[in-house]
Amino acid sequence: MVSRLILVLGDQLSDDLSALREASKETDVVVMAEVQAETDYVPHHPRKIAFLFAAMRKFAAHLKTEGWSVRYTCLDDAENTQSIPGELIRAAEATGAEEVIATEPGEFRLISALEECPVPVHLFPDDRFLCSHTEFEGWAEGRKELRMEWFYREMRRKTGLMMEGDKPAGGKWNYDHDNRKRAPKGLAPPGPLRHAPDKMTRDVIELVRARFGNRWGSLDDFWFATTREEAQASLAHFVEHSLPTFGDYQDAMVAGEPFMFHALLSPYINAGLLGWREVCEAAEAAWSKGDVPINAAEGFIRQIIGWREYIRGVYFLEGPDYPTRNELGATRALPDFYWDGDTDMACVSEVVRTTMAEAYAHHIQRLMVTGNFALLAGLDPGQVSEWYLVVYADAYEWVEAPNVVGMSQFADGGVVASKPYVSGGNYINKMSDYCKGCAYSVSTKTGDGACPFNLLYWDFLNRHRARFEGNPRMAQMYRTWDRMDEDRRETVLAEAGALLDRLDAGQRI
Ligand SMILES: Cc1cc2nc3c(=O)[nH]c(=O)nc-3n(C[C@H](O)[C@H](O)[C@H](O)COP(=O)(O)OP(=O)(O)OC[C@H]3O[C@@H](n4cnc5c(N)ncnc54)[C@H](O)[C@@H]3O)c2cc1C
Ligand code: SF4
Repeated sequence: MVSRLILVLGDQLSDDLSALREASKETDVVVMAEVQAETDYVPHHPRKIAFLFAAMRKFAAHLKTEGWSVRYTCLDDAENTQSIPGELIRAAEATGAEEVIATEPGEFRLISALEECPVPVHLFPDDRFLCSHTEFEGWAEGRKELRMEWFYREMRRKTGLMMEGDKPAGGKWNYDHDNRKRAPKGLAPPGPLRHAPDKMTRDVIELVRARFGNRWGSLDDFWFATTREEAQASLAHFVEHSLPTFGDYQDAMVAGEPFMFHALLSPYINAGLLGWREVCEAAEAAWSKGDVPINAAEGFIRQIIGWREYIRGVYFLEGPDYPTRNELGATRALPDFYWDGDTDMACVSEVVRTTMAEAYAHHIQRLMVTGNFALLAGLDPGQVSEWYLVVYADAYEWVEAPNVVGMSQFADGGVVASKPYVSGGNYINKMSDYCKGCAYSVSTKTGDGACPFNLLYWDFLNRHRARFEGNPRMAQMYRTWDRMDEDRRETVLAEAGALLDRLDAGQRI
């Protein structure tokens, strides 16, 4: 008689999962299931589905070799109920188990589904993160502002990563200032390690192609790691080939170079194939050996124990309504070019097309191109957030929502960001080579060929003046706007209005 069911979700593919630690190989059965409720709650990029199903099948095989009994449901199994609770009920009926053990899911949606499951589910904390919910709540309590930098310093002290006693290595906590170089011509980033799909992955790709092939996003040339060993090889490849230059060009964008020197590890870390500690320790070790400069190692470690942990803390602290917030009251529908890349704006077109091909774009592309445009144009943050959840292979609500609703769209009213991340075309031009190949002119502020980011930037500031003019970090921008002569301001606003009208009418911009 089976004693308990151990639920392992698609983003819980880790040997040190709390649910597995609580379980017994002798008496318990692991349940894993590919279900339509998960593939369809938003129409995920097929690449993301293929990655997760292939990684799940291989993790299930790995658990079996480790001596676990595993009950695995494939998407096309005839008996599949196509939901997680449904598969738990079916497994309970088949095995006689009366209780489920699970590690807390990363989304309120799934937590509620498990709470309502007729088979009682006992949840254990997801301690694959450095900071627990209680610790984050304790850190946040009584603070007027939840600034990531202060949280990050606590996590550095807690882990001892790149610390010399109680002082940060090199004397500074943060080397971000050195991480803003523009990419010189001819720079040749090595790109991520590409893994040839084996038979199991090829079978999954065919299944996904048959079921979801008409969805948005390409499955061609699939190269993601789908096992822990492959993910570890990807980490080693990153540390050796890209990390030394990661810091310098962290914010740089180059047409035709979607990956630059980024890690391409977020799908693996978020699915559980890699843990925060091993990736940070690999970066720290490379820096200690002198293979990697301090700005690169610190910058990378900050993304993981700083940003990633902070973002998760905010999601669980703020609660289930967080993804639906819309503090700036933005209501414009997401334009079609977010799906087809069919726009004269070279920067947006490049990022959308890369995203469609790879289910990936790097941070600055997400924040300062597609995110910046959405915020400037007043797009509905719910629609924007859903787009990000659909299109990226690393997207799960706990990490996507605070990044999009909070950091990128300021729709949480400033919980994550102390000011909106908005810029005109100048920033994009400074950090990329996109403007060279654009139908618009980045140096033109009004009139024929004026870059839409230039017009919309001032329109945004003007529209939200009451909210932002008192923000000391934005005072300079308002002073610049106020110094423009009145005719010019009127022209900018009239042209921005006409551009938004064209957008609403579905005309090409
Ligand atoms: C609008 C927007 C939406 C985003 N949506 C997601 C998302 O759905 N899922 C996701 O994992 N990240 C998201 N991010 C954060 C970041 O863009 C990605 O983690 C990063 O691009 C992943 O690529 P990489 O592995 O090459 O990262 P690198 O740039 O090489 O960074 C290294 C690692 O740091 C972590 N990291 C860096 N920044 C963040 C961050 N802000 N939040 C969480 N982790 C971070 C990731 O684990 C990443 O693998 C979003 C950022 C923005 C601005
Ligand atoms: S000119 Fe403007 S729209 Fe064109 S690529 Fe540059 S920033 Fe983007």
